[in-house]
Amino acid sequence: MCAGLSLLFRNAAAEPAAAKLELHVVKGFQQEYSLSVPALRDNDLVMIDIGAFARALRFVHKRQAGHLTVERDQDGKRWFCHFRDRNNFVRFESPGENGSAERVIQMASPPRLIGESMYLPVTDAVRIFSLWIDRQITYDRRKASIEAFLWSAPPVSDDSRLGILSPEDRSIGAGIVKSFSGPTRLNALEVDELANGVIIRIRATGSPAVASFIKPDKSGMAYLTFQQAAVDLSEFSRTFTMGLIREIKALPLGNGAVQLSLAFNTGMFTIKSTRYDWDSRSNSYTISALTNVDVSEVYRQEKEKRIRQELLQDQQKWKFDTIVLDAGHGGKDPGAIGPAGTQEKTVVLNIVRELGGLIQKEWPDVKVVYTRSDDTFIPLKDRGKIANRHDGKLFVSVHCNAAKNRSAKGAEVYILG
Ligand SMILES: [Zn+2]
Repeated sequence: MCAGLSLLFRNAAAEPAAAKLELHVVKGFQQEYSLSVPALRDNDLVMIDIGAFARALRFVHKRQAGHLTVERDQDGKRWFCHFRDRNNFVRFESPGENGSAERVIQMASPPRLIGESMYLPVTDAVRIFSLWIDRQITYDRRKASIEAFLWSAPPVSDDSRLGILSPEDRSIGAGIVKSFSGPTRLNALEVDELANGVIIRIRATGSPAVASFIKPDKSGMAYLTFQQAAVDLSEFSRTFTMGLIREIKALPLGNGAVQLSLAFNTGMFTIKSTRYDWDSRSNSYTISALTNVDVSEVYRQEKEKRIRQELLQDQQKWKFDTIVLDAGHGGKDPGAIGPAGTQEKTVVLNIVRELGGLIQKEWPDVKVVYTRSDDTFIPLKDRGKIANRHDGKLFVSVHCNAAKNRSAKGAEVYILG
């Protein structure tokens, strides 16, 4: 009569059904492909074949006993990602200065070896691969599809404004020359602070101004002077807090000339080069300044920060903070009945109340949730729902069995993990 604990396993007996997930991979400009990856579906839970997923992303993988290793080559070095059957921890192994370095990431659920393949819930798989290769990979549950964005330069995603100043940003306006006429007016100032520098754009209307740029000196001051231009002084006076550029100020010099002074933060950054261009397509004046910041180092730090945040979230998620106590039976269902008429439902309710009190006393930080606190009947499936709703980390179902055999004694303990 004791089925309480098996509730924790949804459809434990039912076989998961074979399924397929569409994978769309963008590797670079006009380089993309789509294919499908084998998966298993068990109600809402979709598990992807990790080996097939790795292969679809063009990574080599090896499986040995209960261990699956995915391998990645980069700059002549090899990176590894190790999964173990029924182990919640995935290991990233990267080549370091002094031997290899390791990082361990906790997953919500462990991979499982089913037949010849190792399966992992697709949400975990996507997160782990995304972290490992530092690229954006997302799973769309509704479309049953995965998007992998594997550009050689990490994309600027919503959660990170980090970008890189690239040669294309620095050589603008080549080719097309449009003609602009009328008095020059400087309309808008746009500043892009990037991981390895800054791009300052001044949008203008009217004919191109005669302008001269004086590169930053040791103290970080640079000047862009227009011989003849109108300007909104307030739009062109700004200060910045963190990056390479500290302050931009516009100053009328008389006779229609305007000077923009640019204060760079040379105290914190070393400027490698600066460049001034006029973009003939958009009629804008652009100054780009490149620092000697090691961009890969910036990305590495950003990635570590993300990993730390993920770990912290995992820790929160797995924090042992809620225990669900389930008194078996109840209401119309008395459970086992003793020789003197004692009913199981009453005994277990008393035990659960006592146990709950003890837990509260010993571990005041742990929340105790009861599936029932009085003599009511609660269907089995609702007990599981209560536990899940409260995000219970441990579910204790209490029953008191009776047996016809008078020599039977002791306790039955079932543990499902
Ligand atoms: Zn029972």
